[in-house]
Amino acid sequence: MNSRQPLQLHQLDWQEQLAKAFTNATDLLNFLNLSQDHTQSSKPASREFAMRIPLSYAECMKKGNPDDPLLRQVLPTADELKFFPGFLSDPVGDLDAAKSTGVIQKYHGRVLLITTGGCAINCRYCFRRNFPYSEFQMSKSKQAEAISYIKTNSDINEVILSGGDPLLLNDARLGLLFDELSKISHVKRIRIHSRIPIVLPSRITHQLLDILTRVPQQIIMVLHCNHTNEISPAVMTACSKLKQNHIHLFNQAVLLKGINDNARQICQLSEKLFANSIIPYYLHLLDKATGTGHFEVGEQQALTIMKEVKATLPGYLVPKLAREKPGASSKSVLFF
Ligand SMILES: *Cc1c(COP(=O)(O)O)cnc(C)c1O
Ligand code: SF4
Repeated sequence: MNSRQPLQLHQLDWQEQLAKAFTNATDLLNFLNLSQDHTQSSKPASREFAMRIPLSYAECMKKGNPDDPLLRQVLPTADELKFFPGFLSDPVGDLDAAKSTGVIQKYHGRVLLITTGGCAINCRYCFRRNFPYSEFQMSKSKQAEAISYIKTNSDINEVILSGGDPLLLNDARLGLLFDELSKISHVKRIRIHSRIPIVLPSRITHQLLDILTRVPQQIIMVLHCNHTNEISPAVMTACSKLKQNHIHLFNQAVLLKGINDNARQICQLSEKLFANSIIPYYLHLLDKATGTGHFEVGEQQALTIMKEVKATLPGYLVPKLAREKPGASSKSVLFF
């Protein structure tokens, strides 16, 4: 990794860039001019949940800053091994639901398809860190089952592709899935939940845009961006291509301690997203997954932040503060 010039890396396609992502702390910290002891990076933590950071994301970090808000989202640290009461391995209860077919229907009119267990980046605060990935790859037969479930349930008007990150699928797989969905007339919208336009913007290729726009359905993309520093010029270009292709763009963020847990950052994030035609949608309270307790922002503090955000921004730039509650008929919105 170190021996390669970033310039050359940028000429690689997205899959090659992914294959060359940072997977150990030493390489990353060298790249950032940081020493091991500055950051409490932890090998045991990375054995629990592998480190994975594309160069395009690492380049958005400020060199020499051990507290960089992007670095802290993705560097394995000893804090992950601490015990926090109330933190579980599957806090939202999706594991069982997803196992059999990859289809999760919790809410009216829309289903969520788990297309792949993988992501382009491994965020340390993610509930997915505790999942056995292999069980989540959507095989051809599972995909056929999922499609037939959607076909026979005519009240499903929106299909949400989730994961993992659905844009990690190659164009051939994604193309097949979109072809199938395009033939189901009661499906009016296809929504993609993806962090890839933010962390690996080179994925937004002409071929991908072709796949996304050749279906009759409206396409919605819900991005996942937590901090203004994540919105690089390359990310802006990728989002503008999506927008030019009539894809509706929203953002969901997670409220994270020491990363974006203040009204100023949440306001700036909303402003910068909107400047790039992205509408702030949800601000999630952390799902209480084992290994993520040190990222938690309490509900009271979250509400205080949101009051200040609401007093500062026009209503359409205020994200809904939400929490996932197992068994509920929608996300629980605590503030909007
Ligand atoms: C979050 C989620 C959705 C989407 O909810 P919206 O409020 O429509 O964004 C749908 N299905 C499941 C299972 C979810 O977890
Ligand atoms: S699902 Fe989202 S939050 Fe979790 S690791 Fe993947 S990109 Fe990060």
